[in-house]
Amino acid sequence: MTNHNFLQFALPEIGEEEIAEVVSALRSGWVTTGPKTKQFEADFAEFLGGRVEAIAVNSATAGLHLGLEALGVGPGDEVITTTHTFTATAEVIRYLGADPVFVDIDANTLCIDVDAVAAAITPRTKAIIPVHFGGRAADMGRLLELARKHNLRVMEDAAHSLPTTSNGKMIGTLDSDVTVFSFYANKTITTGEGGMLVTRDPAVANRARVMRLHGINRDAFDRFTSKAPSWYYEVVAPGFKYNMTDIAASLGIHQLRRAQAFQQKRTRIATLYDAGLAEMPIIRPPHAAPGDIHSWHLYVIQLDETVEVSRDQVIERLFEQGIGCSVHYIPLHLQPYWRDTYKLTPAMFPVSQRVYERTLTLPLYTRMSESDVARVVAAVQRAIR
Ligand SMILES: *Cc1c(COP(=O)(O)O)cnc(C)c1O
Repeated sequence: MTNHNFLQFALPEIGEEEIAEVVSALRSGWVTTGPKTKQFEADFAEFLGGRVEAIAVNSATAGLHLGLEALGVGPGDEVITTTHTFTATAEVIRYLGADPVFVDIDANTLCIDVDAVAAAITPRTKAIIPVHFGGRAADMGRLLELARKHNLRVMEDAAHSLPTTSNGKMIGTLDSDVTVFSFYANKTITTGEGGMLVTRDPAVANRARVMRLHGINRDAFDRFTSKAPSWYYEVVAPGFKYNMTDIAASLGIHQLRRAQAFQQKRTRIATLYDAGLAEMPIIRPPHAAPGDIHSWHLYVIQLDETVEVSRDQVIERLFEQGIGCSVHYIPLHLQPYWRDTYKLTPAMFPVSQRVYERTLTLPLYTRMSESDVARVVAAVQRAIR
């Protein structure tokens, strides 16, 4: 298979509007956090609705760190999260000296198992981090009820879920404390690197804004445009360097305007996959609850028990046919750091472990054509024989 015919696993879709906006930022002389970041934040809050504040950061990982910090998580605290996620979800807990408590996923949603969360609560539990896996919302109704009952904070890892709804409400506007989106290159919208922290709690918003930029009490934009002396600032905490640049925000402004169209295109591809794979011994990804929106960030399939070819072999055979695939995720209980530090075994996470052994993620992105989808379907058919 020649290289130009290789179907990438993921590719961003960047238009001329994004490019022109980046050029305008470069020509303006204001390349770091400034007017375009402010605009992106305002547009993002409006896109979600629900009177939230949106705080742009240079990655979702940064946003997750700021979110937990603002919630007061620290040494001695426990934060409950899913083993079936990317390491960023859990590493931010360690940044603050707290301990993650990993729980299994629900086989029907591949998101955090709320019963397992309930069983994992101890007097040290401070917060819960659900992940809307692949862009399908976790069971937020039950999770938020549980959190309220035990007076726990909730931060949603929404890296996959723009736009996604839960009970008809946009992720980012639920009654959790913080929600964090990612604009990494392969996410549903991208700024190259970037993220957005969203909250309705003014105390959390203020703390995250201060800690985003060195613990300084005003950001650079205010500092150079307000009436106070432009040289004056105060450091109120040992903060971080997590602000978004105007170059990145220039991409975000236009990517956000295309988010609905992107979601429709992704849904179309998911529908084609569903139809194409229907007769094969393959478990297709969970759909959203009736009436809800699935962002379709990922199209994750599982090989049925009757498939005799191993998952690794299937990926190899797809690669040989010029199709890029991935695995979401190698669960954290298998990763050396998490496994050894917290004495985790596969037996503690039977659902995640079973899914991991049989799962692969097919390419799904807006630049794919219908014939690309057909080509993947045909390649899967050949690969599992
Ligand atoms: C991508 C991702 C992150 C991290 O996002 P960055 O913007 O790359 O920091 C966190 N959690 C999940 C579930 C992700 O998929």
